[in-house]
Amino acid sequence: MKIVILDSKDQVATTAADIVEKLVRNKPNCTLGLATGSTPVRLYEELTRRFETGRLSFDQVSTFNLDEFIGIDQRDIWSYAHYMREHFFSRVDLQEDNTHLPTCIDVRDRRLVCETYEYEIRDRGGIDLQILGIGANGHIGFNEPTSSLGSRTRVKTLTPQTVEDYSQEVEQGESDSRLAITMGIATILDARKIVLLAMGRAKAPALSAAIEGPVAAMCPASSLQLHRDVTVIADAEAAADLKYLEYYRSVQEVDWSLPPPTRITRI
Ligand code: PGA
Repeated sequence: MKIVILDSKDQVATTAADIVEKLVRNKPNCTLGLATGSTPVRLYEELTRRFETGRLSFDQVSTFNLDEFIGIDQRDIWSYAHYMREHFFSRVDLQEDNTHLPTCIDVRDRRLVCETYEYEIRDRGGIDLQILGIGANGHIGFNEPTSSLGSRTRVKTLTPQTVEDYSQEVEQGESDSRLAITMGIATILDARKIVLLAMGRAKAPALSAAIEGPVAAMCPASSLQLHRDVTVIADAEAAADLKYLEYYRSVQEVDWSLPPPTRITRI
């Protein structure tokens, strides 16, 4: 794992936006995996700024969101579909047909929605870059602790803590927020590149378990240790519990001082 520790939340967002920008420039029809929550808000703001200044276009980009609540209308202000429109989709030149969330209004459709989502991701050539946040309990997407590391897109019952965290924003009765559809851990690990963002002191224990703990279903984010191209971008508060903090900082300095490798044309 590549661990990048930065002083501020804005730096985290800018660094993540640089990674997205590099991909979109190299592959204008790339597929992005997107996250919701408070963590990526600044990233979406930064990407929007780059679009507005003409630096970046999402015209050919496809997106797949990690998760959505079951039984919630896409126009509902508490849906992740609404979040995405507000923070990103309506602000840039993404084509509506190219944006995807695992929307399931009628719970009876759940199997079809999950299987279709997996199919659609494959049909678009797989996810080139997956953006992730991390829950205080180590979840990624809505893969709560004890989720199978081999899981695919499916229905998850949220933990009381996750429901409580979200219900601070959701008015009870608006949706059945205990049930969600989420990409599985194996679905996430299929992405070619993964960027996990972590900000704030509340994420420090989960981040240290994810990076320095054993690979375990009790901390779903620890499954990222199995992936060959993961970059963790954390602010100093989220990185506070890392045992090898100084080591990561020194690796970062060395990394930034290295010239680009020579291009291999033939082996
Ligand atoms: P947050 O959520 O960005 O709102 O902290 C992250 C997550 O639960 O994955």
